[in-house]
Amino acid sequence: MEKREQLYAGKAKSIFKTDDPDHLIMLFRNDTSAFDGKRIEQLDRKGMVNNKFNAFIMGKLQAAGIPTHFVKLLSDTEVLVKTMEMIPVECVVRNLAAGSLVRRLGVQEGLELNPPTFELFLKNDALGDPMVNESHVQSFGWATPEQLARMKELTFKINDILKALFAEGNMLLVDFKVEFGLHKGEVILGDEFSPDGCRLWDKDTREKLDKDRFRQNLGNVVESYEMVGQRLGLTF
Ligand code: UDP
Repeated sequence: MEKREQLYAGKAKSIFKTDDPDHLIMLFRNDTSAFDGKRIEQLDRKGMVNNKFNAFIMGKLQAAGIPTHFVKLLSDTEVLVKTMEMIPVECVVRNLAAGSLVRRLGVQEGLELNPPTFELFLKNDALGDPMVNESHVQSFGWATPEQLARMKELTFKINDILKALFAEGNMLLVDFKVEFGLHKGEVILGDEFSPDGCRLWDKDTREKLDKDRFRQNLGNVVESYEMVGQRLGLTF
């Protein structure tokens, strides 16, 4: 597989073409952003840790029947993925209240959400990723009703699989964001799953082990990401 020109650079990852139109290379950089890209810092080793963490999670999801764009690890910071047409909507599931839900509704952080909530956000940094609903998705043509139903079904399945996986490492999956796209007409999971896009708390102490350490200046960001991996049996 030959790496060709860069197609796109996001806040933490870059995408490159390959000599095969069906495959792309995703590069995990050390850049760490928060607040819709208003704050960006370099965190040593983060690209490598997130690449390996993502590969581990994508493998688990695929084994549990979730279709993903993941193909194989290429290097410490690069992964081969299937080319897909992204659906510009972020799917968020919450098991416990945190982050924007707490700010929006004034509820207590850690409030248990039963059943878990499902939220949609438009991917648009300039607008601050506004929350949207299923009707917006239809009216603006971001996804068909069938694709949206599949995204929702897969997001809840991912929640079930990963809640159980993180529980084995004595962690609570508080919430997470996933993104989907279309590959040969099929809705598949894209982007990444890492502590950059989810909230994970220690089950006993409720210590934050995810990107909130960066957002809230708690320190030891990459060290915590590595610890999360290690609790799942990963070595970096
Ligand atoms: N999230 C993300 N990218 C975004 C917005 C949110 O990965 O652009 C993740 C975030 O890490 C958390 C979940 O989605 O795990 C819910 O985020 P929330 O709506 O609480 O927003 P935040 O507090 O991050 O502004």
